[in-house]
Parts: sequence; C-alpha cells; structure tokens
Amino acid sequence: MKPTNPGSRRKKIILYYTLAVVLPGIILGYMAYRGIHNDQALREKESRRNLEMESQAFFAAIDSSFVQFIPKKDDPSLLAMFVKDTGGTKKLITHKLLYLPAELLTAQPEQLSPPANIEEGLRLEFIDRRFSEALRFYQNKILKTTNPAEKIPALVASARLYNKMHQPDGAKALYYEIRKDYTGCLLNGQIPVGLMASLEILKINKDIGKQDEKRNNSLQYLELLLHPPCEYDKNQFDLFYQSFKAIIPETDAVIDSLFAELDTQRARTDYLIRILSEPDLITTSGNNHYKGGKNGVSSIPIYSDELTAVYLSQDKNEDEQIGIVIDFQAYLKSRSEKLIQKFDPNSSVNVKIEDNNGRLIFSRVIKEEAAYLSFPFPENLPQWKLLLSENKPGFIATLFKAESGIYLYIFILIALLMVLGFVFTIYTLNEELRLNKLKSEFISNVSHELKSPLTSIRMMTEMLHRNRVQTEERKSDYYAVMLEESERLSHLIDNILDFSRMDDDRKKYDFIDLNLDELLLKFLESTRERLPEPGFDIRYNRPDRVPIIQADKNAILQVLYNLVDNAIKFSGTSRQIDINLFYKEDELLLCVKDYGIGISSIDQERIFERFYRGDEPQRMGIRGSGIGLTIVKKIMEAHKGRLTLESKPGEGSTFCVHLLLSKNTVT
Ligand code: ADP
Repeated sequence: MKPTNPGSRRKKIILYYTLAVVLPGIILGYMAYRGIHNDQALREKESRRNLEMESQAFFAAIDSSFVQFIPKKDDPSLLAMFVKDTGGTKKLITHKLLYLPAELLTAQPEQLSPPANIEEGLRLEFIDRRFSEALRFYQNKILKTTNPAEKIPALVASARLYNKMHQPDGAKALYYEIRKDYTGCLLNGQIPVGLMASLEILKINKDIGKQDEKRNNSLQYLELLLHPPCEYDKNQFDLFYQSFKAIIPETDAVIDSLFAELDTQRARTDYLIRILSEPDLITTSGNNHYKGGKNGVSSIPIYSDELTAVYLSQDKNEDEQIGIVIDFQAYLKSRSEKLIQKFDPNSSVNVKIEDNNGRLIFSRVIKEEAAYLSFPFPENLPQWKLLLSENKPGFIATLFKAESGIYLYIFILIALLMVLGFVFTIYTLNEELRLNKLKSEFISNVSHELKSPLTSIRMMTEMLHRNRVQTEERKSDYYAVMLEESERLSHLIDNILDFSRMDDDRKKYDFIDLNLDELLLKFLESTRERLPEPGFDIRYNRPDRVPIIQADKNAILQVLYNLVDNAIKFSGTSRQIDINLFYKEDELLLCVKDYGIGISSIDQERIFERFYRGDEPQRMGIRGSGIGLTIVKKIMEAHKGRLTLESKPGEGSTFCVHLLLSKNTVT
C-alpha cells in the first residue's frame, strides 16, 4: 500500500476547503457587500431627495405664514409696523422701539403750547418767590381741573415747590401719584411724565429713602426705560438714561442685567430707526437686493450684529403699503411648532437652524444623528441654514428590514457556512488522520499476527521435512502446534475477511435454530486443547435447560472465539476464566469473565471502535489487531442483541452477549 503523508493530505483537504467553501464564500460575501453598499447608496440618495423636499416644504411654509401673518401688538416677533404712502411717508402703527426719531413721533413738540394755565403760579414762585401762595395756586388748579394737560403741569409744579420748601415727603407723595396716574403722558408734549416722576423720586430717596425702597425705585425706573409707556425721542431717552447712571452709581446683578438688556435694545432701536428712515428699506448691510413673494407680500432680509429681521411689505391698497419688521428668530421660535408640522409626519426628521455665524437658533432633534444635510435659506430670508437629518434605523432594525436585510442575512449565512465548513473540515481531517494512523497500526499488527504463526509452522515443517525430529511423540507435538497455529491463522484471516465484509455490509448471515449449549461444549473442547499453558481453567456454568435461539452458527462461534481469545490474552497472571450461560426475561446471556488486567474506564468507551487497542496491552506488548470486539459488536447488532461490559483495572473483565429469545424456544 502506498504510504500517505498526513502533511500533504492535510494540505490537500485545506486546498479543497478553500476551493469549495472559502472562494465561493468570498465571492458571495463580496456580492452581498456590494448589494448592501448599493442599497445604502440608494437609500442615502432617496433620503437626500426626501430631505430636499422637506426643506422646500419648510421654506414654502415660512412664505405662506408671511402671507397669513396678522400682526398683533403683543406678538413677540413684531418689531415695527407702519403704513407707507406712495410719497414714501411713513406712519408708525405699532413698534417695540425704545424711542423714535422726531419725524415719526405722533405728537410734535413744537406744535404744543406752553402750560398757560399755571403762568400765574410760576410768576409767584420764580419772580416773587412767594412759595406758599404759589403752592396754594397750584393746588387750587389741581383740584379744579381733570384735564391731564392742565393737571400734570400743576402737579409737577407743586411737587417741585415742596422740594424747594424742604418738604421732601410731600414732594415724594406727589411724584408717586403722578407716576401712578399719568405714567403714559408727556409733559409739555415731550417729557415722559412717568419717567420724570420716577427720576425725581430717585433723587429724593437718594438721601432719605430706605435701601429696599431705593432698589425698587431703580428697578421700576429701568422697567419704564425698557418698556416705554409712551413715545418720546432719543434726546429724552439719553437724558433719562444718563441721569440714572449719575444718580445711582452702585448696581447689583439684576440692575446690571437690566442695563445690559437696555443696551441691546438701544442698539436694536438705533438699527431699526436707520431701517425705518430708508425710503425703500435698502440697508447697507446684508444681501437684501432680493424682493420676492406672493399674494402682494414681499420679504426682504435685513440683518446686522444686533438683529436679524425680515421686512415684510404688504399692499394695503393702490396708494398705501403696510411695512412690518419682524425679529426673525422670535418669529421662527413662536411658529416653530406649526412649521415643523409641515414635515412629513411619517418621517422622523431632525431639524436644526443655524444663523449666519453658525449659532444654533432652533433645534428639534428626535435622536441625534451625525450627518446633517445643510440647506441655505432662500434669498428672501436671512442667510441662515436649515440642517436636516433623517433618523436612520439602527443595525438590528436594518437587519430585519426586508429589502436591505436580505443582504445581511446572506452575509451572516455565508459567514456561518464558512465557520461550519471549517469546523467540519478540521473534524473530518482529524478523524481521517486518526483512522489512517489506526489503519497503519492495524496493518503492522496484522502482519505481525500473520507472521509469527507462519514462522513457527515453517520452522516445524522444515524440521519434519529434514527428518530432524527424532521421536514420534515429538513429531506429534509438532503437528499439534502446527495445527493450532494454522487454526489461529485461519481465525485471524476469518476475522479480517468478516471485518471487511461487515464494514461495507456484504456479510450474509444464515440464521438457524441453534443450541448454544451444544455449540459451547464443542467450542470448549477444542479450546481447552489449545490452551497456551497447562493450569489454565475454563469453568462453564449453564442452566438445566437451555433455550434454542435463532442465530448464525459461525458468527456465534466467532463471537465465542474472540471473547475467549481476549480473556486468555488479557488474563495476566490469572489462570481462570468463567463462561456463564443463563437466561433472564427475554434474553439469553452468554458471559465470558476473566480475572486479568481489566480495562480502564477511558478505554472502556473506545474498545468497540474499529482498530482501537487499549493502552495497557500495547504497553505490555500483547498481540492484537483491534478488530475483534468490533466484529463481536457488529454480529450482535445483526442478531438484534447487545454486548455489555463490566470491568475494573487489575480485577478483570466480564463481556456479556445478550441474545433475544424467540417465544416458545425453551427446550
Ligand atoms: P485486540 O484484542 O486484537 O487488540 P479487540 O477488538 O479484540 O482487539 O480488543 C480491543 C481492545 O479491548 C484490546 O486491545 C484490549 O485493550 C481490550 N480488551 C478486550 N478484551 C479484554 C479483556 N478481556 N481484558 C482486558 N482488555 C480487553
């Protein structure tokens, strides 16, 4: 037989595995990967298109919100609203400015006449310096009139006079009254009365007021500056702004923050005044040359450091136009819910809005995504950016998503197949190598088994042939040994032939009615004759009546031969073998028991495997081929019987064959 090199065999199997599993796996894997890739690219394209449509819908929604925009006074986004005629004259309707340019003031100061009704009092106070009389005069006026235009100058004059007469409490009480009742009025058509009264209170309290009262006065004063109850011009504002700083030098966190807000509003007011004074609202900053819109509404973006606004112009009639300036950030914030609803309710889109400096103005994020698509706002809006991203399903969700999941399934399947293929190949490879090794051992064992009887037969034949054996008795011994050895040879060859037949299921059985007791007695007779040494005892126990069984006589003889041969071989120093024949329930049991070397529990699991030989016998140099028990097991299977074993190392072994009893077979 040509020896096989395990190394080259291993290489061959790995090559086949690579060709049959790895290569197709890689090709299929690559195809699946391409599939996933293409699918992803398609989905990304689709998602981009979706987001683009969403962004268009969003911008269109802003445009139509402009058309439907009905400004309310308290709308936080409304900065100014005015009517402009064809001549360019503007009439301010409502606004959130701190002060106004003179031309936009409703009351023009130069048209107002001085408070003639208290001239008499002023003369008494300033020229005659008859303070008590002047006070009486003013108070008389106060009592007599309900007209604010007359009453306010009288009240202010009385308070001033109290102060002059060193009666600060009286003055303070009057100023409180003025601030409470006439806070939205102008004195002499230009001085905001509320602010003026507040300033006077601050001045009086500076020396005599309690700490709490002083602080409240300051806060009220700043609130009035921030939310002017009446319109006045920049000069008035500046005057009151500066005066406060001069009177109240020490501040705290709240006052500071009010001042900071005041400064911002001031800058915004200046900017808005600049815009309002532009005849066509073309400001110097920003990209505002665009004028577009629908339904007679056009929008122009206007932005600076202080403010990002949109100027909306609506045609009121042929001669007049309504102009509205809105704070764009406040506008988007107050309408964000409505605008967001314009997005497809089924798509979970994350929305962010960034201004031109990259500052986040607004965000509605369902689940944060890394990749946002940026869409610039259209030209009729400030140059902001709309950032959109679609929430993609996670890995597991994608896996279960039919269209794209299939590629992943293929991918996983291939990987699984490759791993399984690999494990299977390695297992087969090892099994193959193990069997190969056992086969080689078997061949060498069998050769040895064949050679030793042949050698002794040859030697003895030669001696007899050359007449070297002298006595007849000696000759007879030689013949007996030769017979025994040839019987051993024939049994061995029978074993090998049967093994090969059984291995590929060619073995035919001839089932006949068999009296096992008779067979055993004959077998023992011949066996006892060929026992290797004198002193070996085989005891045979049987019941009185032995049932007839259906069995193949030669096969059962082979079972007996193999089991008893093993018992003899592995008896060690013991010289006793027991053969017990008995029946139990529906089985006839034939047990061969020896008191020899026994079998380790590890070997007990494997000795029925083909070519397997126990470690101990190999170590002790006991002959054998490793197919005896495999043959016994196969024969028992063919007889629908069983083979059982009980053994302890050093104490011996009992092999029992269980043969099925057919009914009515007990003799
Ligand atoms: P062989 O006896 O030719 O080695 P077998 O198939 O008959 O092959 O037995 C397989 C192995 O089972 C033996 O090598 C030996 O290790 C073990 N064995 C079988 N019978 C006995 C026994 N009676 N006592 C101890 N070991 C045994």
